Amino acid sequence: MCDERSDFVDAHIVPRSFYPERGRGREALIVMTMNKNIRNGRSRIGIYDKYLVCEGCEKKFDPFDDYAAKLLLVNRERHKVIENHGDLVGYLIDTFDYKKLKLFGLSLLWRSAFTSRIEFSNVKLGLFQGILTQLLKNEDPECPEVFSCQLTRFSDVKDWQSGFLSPFREKYEGINFYRFLLGSYALYVKVDRRPTPKFMSPFIMRPNAPLILDSREFRGGPEYRAFYRTANMIRE
Ligand SMILES: [Zn+2]
Repeated sequence: MCDERSDFVDAHIVPRSFYPERGRGREALIVMTMNKNIRNGRSRIGIYDKYLVCEGCEKKFDPFDDYAAKLLLVNRERHKVIENHGDLVGYLIDTFDYKKLKLFGLSLLWRSAFTSRIEFSNVKLGLFQGILTQLLKNEDPECPEVFSCQLTRFSDVKDWQSGFLSPFREKYEGINFYRFLLGSYALYVKVDRRPTPKFMSPFIMRPNAPLILDSREFRGGPEYRAFYRTANMIRE
């Protein structure tokens, strides 16, 4: 993506809007990772990389980051609640910009794969790295199945305070995904040539279609357990 060899800028890997630090940055961000070899710690400046992209490339991400923040954070009250017999099962966004939101997901994956920050060291794309770079260069969101993206909205998290958690690599029905924790959302990006498992298919981003967000509680889920474990490590 970036062909510059100098003039790099501090580029945030995960946009700052998705992990607003307590007290507008006065209190340090808690940085957590599932990797046992990496020390968890605190950061006053967020998760950024000095040597990832030049200013021009970093600016290319801005419209995608801004769009995702607007759709998911600023306008979150506009998401329609989907209920089943009184139980919250998901959220519906009637219309959204497929290109921008998908490219947000792709650029997050790209930044995570190309950064040298150890918090992202488990993101390894292999042969997919070149394809992903090309898509971003061309600002091409590809069809829904290529790096298919879907979101979960946590039903019990409103204002995110907790910090940053490294992406997870995981398999669903044998298909490879990366999961990013983005405050009150989890983003899943498929890194696999095989199709998205059927049970996930209704949720993937598609052009000219509403976006359905799966919903579950953060508390008790895998991200929560990871936080709980690492938070205890920090205290020790
Ligand atoms: Zn560049």
